[in-house]
Amino acid sequence: MKRLLTLLLLVSASGGGCGTQRWLLGTESDYLFIAADAITLPNQEVQLRARLQGGDALRPMAGQVVRFYRNDQLFKAAETDDDGVAIVSFTPDQAGDYRFRADVAPAGMPDEPPEPQELLVACRNIDSPMVVVDLDKTIVASGFGAVLIGDPDPMAGSVDVLERLARTYTILYLTHRPDYFSIKSKKWLKRHGYPPGPVLLSTLTGFFKGSGSYKTDALWDLRVKFEGLTIGIGDKISDAAAYHDNGLKAFLIVRIPDTDVHEPYEDLANDLRDLDNAVQVVTSWDQIAKALFDGTEFPRDRTERQLRETAQRLRTDKANR
Ligand SMILES: [Mg+2]
Repeated sequence: MKRLLTLLLLVSASGGGCGTQRWLLGTESDYLFIAADAITLPNQEVQLRARLQGGDALRPMAGQVVRFYRNDQLFKAAETDDDGVAIVSFTPDQAGDYRFRADVAPAGMPDEPPEPQELLVACRNIDSPMVVVDLDKTIVASGFGAVLIGDPDPMAGSVDVLERLARTYTILYLTHRPDYFSIKSKKWLKRHGYPPGPVLLSTLTGFFKGSGSYKTDALWDLRVKFEGLTIGIGDKISDAAAYHDNGLKAFLIVRIPDTDVHEPYEDLANDLRDLDNAVQVVTSWDQIAKALFDGTEFPRDRTERQLRETAQRLRTDKANR
């Protein structure tokens, strides 16, 4: 997957041209202009960050003015630095959702500036209840590969369950996708009707460090500020372990193999073996709803046992053939 991403970014950046880039990153011009969502506490300063890249290798564009607006009023403006990043500070005085729009001032731009971007600052009290949810293979039915090259479907039931949770919890979309995919990710969530919430993406460095360590670090950063992180939902063993280790009720969405050879069942059972039994191992959002709203338990050991039984039966069948 990392190789595929690198390849696609290189194609996009090196004369694949704006068509490739639009298709790959969901942009509407030759530029990549992204603005980062954030979460913070009342009376705590937070940075509003936007990044501008463009040209043949999507190079950072320094010295351009980025303007941040709130309620259509200019809030602050800053020049992009050598990394193409413009930062201004904001200190919300109470809990709430603060929406900003960032744009690039036309002056000094070689052609039409990129489309403005929205960013959300979710300001929450220290004990505000929160759900952390992953994107790929969790609410997105397919993996990141399909995100890069296509328009994936939502996982059945995920919108409804998150809507229900959003009545009580703040939803944090925490993904290992690099922030290059910020526009595509936010558009997808909006188009499919997911409840609003900050979309926290990885950096390229974070991406190449691997999902496990990126998520562990990101959860740690959240945990030192907020005490209300309650539920974590993801599809990777490392997601579930990171959620559980940080005191969240962890959900692991697995795909049960559908084959008549025993190895994939055994492999998945082995993957599950070291997870704490409190981790809920589910195969659908329907099961997540049952666990969250009806108190049904989906303990890790039950799935592991079923997988081993299936593997054993397939081994026996093979031996008898
Ligand atoms: Mg995932």
